[in-house]
Amino acid sequence: MLTYLNGPESDPFNYIYSSKGWLSDYDPPRPFPFWVNLEPTNHCQLDCLFCSRQKSRRPKGFLDLALAEAVFDEVAREPGTAVRFTGWGEPLLHPGIGDLCELAKKRSIPLKIYTNGLRLSPALMDRLIGLGVDDLQFSMQGLNEAQYLFNRVGSDYRKLTDNIRMASERRGREKKPFLSLLTSVLERELAEACPREFTDEWLGIVDKVAIDLTNLNFVSDLPRVKPLLGLQSAGLRRGLCVDVFLALEVKYDGAIGFCGQDADSLDEHTAGRFPADSLKGAWLGSRMEAQRERVGRGLGHESSPVCRRCYHNTDKYDTFKAMAAKGGGKP
Ligand code: SF4
Repeated sequence: MLTYLNGPESDPFNYIYSSKGWLSDYDPPRPFPFWVNLEPTNHCQLDCLFCSRQKSRRPKGFLDLALAEAVFDEVAREPGTAVRFTGWGEPLLHPGIGDLCELAKKRSIPLKIYTNGLRLSPALMDRLIGLGVDDLQFSMQGLNEAQYLFNRVGSDYRKLTDNIRMASERRGREKKPFLSLLTSVLERELAEACPREFTDEWLGIVDKVAIDLTNLNFVSDLPRVKPLLGLQSAGLRRGLCVDVFLALEVKYDGAIGFCGQDADSLDEHTAGRFPADSLKGAWLGSRMEAQRERVGRGLGHESSPVCRRCYHNTDKYDTFKAMAAKGGGKP
């Protein structure tokens, strides 16, 4: 369920969402992805129930500014491609997050930041406003404080909600950053609280509210998750993967992944390594193309340790497609 304060056209990335090749007619693949998802760090201060990070054995680290610059240089040669700071950690924990934003915006790259919101200070918010960062997306969970704290173990609901309000006040009438709030819910949470009330509470403070389905499938073997599996509403129907036609993932150490679902940079899920491999080389390379053949044009999900747990594409994108068919952001 996706609701905009001022319509989908107000979204700085509507130019992507309304492009030919976004979610339909995407094969053959574009010469370069719509999105390059770049991981500032895989450190995080939380221990969320649904997150594959809790199973990750990958060393922790931070994106080097020189590596980031090289990524931005290549992206800047591909007008229209946007960068998202995301990955398996909290981007605002990167000690140079403001500098990373500056390096991207100096090259006029459309930039979106995903954050759990806890480390957003007034000074950093002012810097993001000054740099013209395009979109700041806060991640929530559930539809109220109790649901949030159940899912986001170790978090601080008051801190997050205060910071969202602070961001909104400081941005004021400036156009950027566009402010997005994304939450996801288990079936039980939908029964306990009203998504419409949640949207009404936040729309106006932020510009866009999205309510998604919590996906526990990637962590379904963990003891604390197993008892909850019956509560998730994300389905278990496999579908053709569209992610491998839309975006490329770059981890903090330069590993280039097929998609954002692999918290560990498994060799079976890796398209190359930047800068030895260019982004374009990896995107159009044989490993990525073989992955498209396996899961994008067929249902060979069992062949990959990551894909065999992946069901999220089908329900989620079917929902978005249904919204688009109805002519906009309203469900
Ligand atoms: S099917 Fe595989 S490649 Fe596609 S999104 Fe799922 S895990 Fe990623």
